[in-house]
Amino acid sequence: MADTGGNSWEEKDMANVFHGFTDFPSLKENGPVVLTHGEGIHVFDVHGKRYLDANSGLWNNVAGFNHTGIVEALCAQAQRFPGYHSFFGRIADVTVELSERLISLSPFDSGKVYYTNSGSEANDTMVKMLWMINRRKGMPERRKIITRINAYHGVTVATASMTAKPYNSEFGLPLPGFLRADCPHFWRFGLEEETEDAFTARMARNLRDLIEREGPETIAGMFAEPVQGAGGVIPPSKGYFDAIRPILREYDIPLIADEVICGFGRMGTMWGSDYYGIEPDAIIASKCITAGYYPMGAVILGAKLAAELEEASEAAEEFPHGFTAAGSPLGSAVALKALDVLETEGLIDNVRSLTPHFLERLSRFGDHPHTGEVRGVGFMGAIEMVADRKTKAPFDSKLRVSERIANKALEKGLICRPLGAAVVLAPPFIITNAETDTMFDLLEETVADVF
Ligand code: PLP
Repeated sequence: MADTGGNSWEEKDMANVFHGFTDFPSLKENGPVVLTHGEGIHVFDVHGKRYLDANSGLWNNVAGFNHTGIVEALCAQAQRFPGYHSFFGRIADVTVELSERLISLSPFDSGKVYYTNSGSEANDTMVKMLWMINRRKGMPERRKIITRINAYHGVTVATASMTAKPYNSEFGLPLPGFLRADCPHFWRFGLEEETEDAFTARMARNLRDLIEREGPETIAGMFAEPVQGAGGVIPPSKGYFDAIRPILREYDIPLIADEVICGFGRMGTMWGSDYYGIEPDAIIASKCITAGYYPMGAVILGAKLAAELEEASEAAEEFPHGFTAAGSPLGSAVALKALDVLETEGLIDNVRSLTPHFLERLSRFGDHPHTGEVRGVGFMGAIEMVADRKTKAPFDSKLRVSERIANKALEKGLICRPLGAAVVLAPPFIITNAETDTMFDLLEETVADVF
């Protein structure tokens, strides 16, 4: 008989579960939080303790944790046609309906949707699409992928190579051919005396230099999050996308907007691309597409890339790529309902109208002696903690300040996320102003306790 651990949920977890992206010292010290259910913006653990989830699960559970309409849509589809998972030549009617809906919501006049089960898979798929298109066009050397410092695009081998986090060196990544452009974070990377406009111009110049240095004929595409999320909620400097877009067009380099976090309303607009007027060539979507009730990712190709991929696939007789569970009828029914909820229950409107209050409460952390920068857009906010405000020197990483804040917040019944030196808040779209106040009151108490 295997030893499966002790009797409590936490002991059983520790004995049998391996947690990713979890701070091991904190896990060993505090144990996991084992949850049973949720109500609105709160979740409950096995001891009945309630937590306000200021992270919407993982940026995705935006309609609340017990949305009756979404659950009913899931159950209705489960009774009608639950488990037909092949996406190869056959497809469920609801998935066709969802595709039409996604194209109509997209910034494209026409296009095509390709389904995956996650954001990582969608980005990974997009890379393969670009590679195949270029090979079939007779440009096999056009393979390099540009992403930016502090980018997060996923965990597969290709998308970890696109993710500019130091931890990927644990895996010997990035692979060759995954290039890094600058992170357009003015507060952190602006030079002394440099204006924001001059900084943006420098970002654009550096991108052009990178393309020229590597050879434009070797570059397949650039991926960018409208606001870098897991990098610590980093909105671009003023005019950034306006400055880089023409450069990419000039060199015929597709711009792929990774909207896994920004898409479906996080910034008060359907897409982060709408917010900044980005005009991408394709969109990577996931997370809020199902409001966190089902795993789903999607590559939404604009007309040009869709036509090019179709041509390449016709020549090869197929696009040789696909996931067993992608385009599932259950996920599609959930997504259709989640999109209804976002639009008709006014969730995106709620983000838009409550953003000023959210950002005002966030900005109050700016007075704290260890706050380097407070930044936010829509319902995404970050407080970056520094050892020295003047020099912007970060705390010694061994002190794990943002981790300590998140742990202390948990004790108080608040879930927030440490991302690097920043504490990040990304509440569900259904949050009210009163709940926003509770969330920030708890965080203020927490920060006061930690320092
Ligand atoms: N792209 C972005 C911008 C993300 O934030 C994430 C996840 O947080 C991903 C891709 C990867 O998505 P997934 O975790 O579903 O693989």
